[in-house]
Amino acid sequence: MSRLIEEFGKLPGIGPKSAERLAFHILKSQPAEAIALADAIRDLKNKIRRCEVCCNYSEQAVCQICSDPKRDKSQICVVEQPKDVIALEKTGACKWVYHVLGGHIAPLEGIEPSDLTIEKLVERVRKGGVTEVIMATNPNIAGDGTSLYISSLLRDTGVKITRPARGLPSGSTIEYASGKILTDAIIGRQKLE
Ligand SMILES: [Zn+2]
Repeated sequence: MSRLIEEFGKLPGIGPKSAERLAFHILKSQPAEAIALADAIRDLKNKIRRCEVCCNYSEQAVCQICSDPKRDKSQICVVEQPKDVIALEKTGACKWVYHVLGGHIAPLEGIEPSDLTIEKLVERVRKGGVTEVIMATNPNIAGDGTSLYISSLLRDTGVKITRPARGLPSGSTIEYASGKILTDAIIGRQKLE
């Protein structure tokens, strides 16, 4: 019991009291329910991997979005985290494919370009068939810096590079932007010089 309380307490937003409440809830629940929870956690870690193409989470080698024939593969939307894909997909305004960087460049935090999937993105674009790269990194200093760095690497490919702009407050994140603002920002994206 104390082991379970300790583990729950490590989860974000769960204090000691909540951890205790959750542990007691599990103790009282049906065995099947408790085991289903344990299985879901185990499967998450065992079955989920990174898509070979876009680096988003996936249960298959190539994720559902990348293998969807209805998606426009000529447009790659670059985001920092898998959570950003979820936020953008919720708008229903995206027909493109993605590239998940795995974060942003932050030398002070020890995050260098080589820690992200930037090289893979450049390879993807160089392979051809891509006409536009949409830089949907977060509209804050780290996100802007990352986007500019990537743009400089892609400049000689001749691909059009755009950035969702209108309405997205500077200093904010894609994850927490409202659906309406995000949709406007996607539709009103501007060419990045
Ligand atoms: Zn993918």
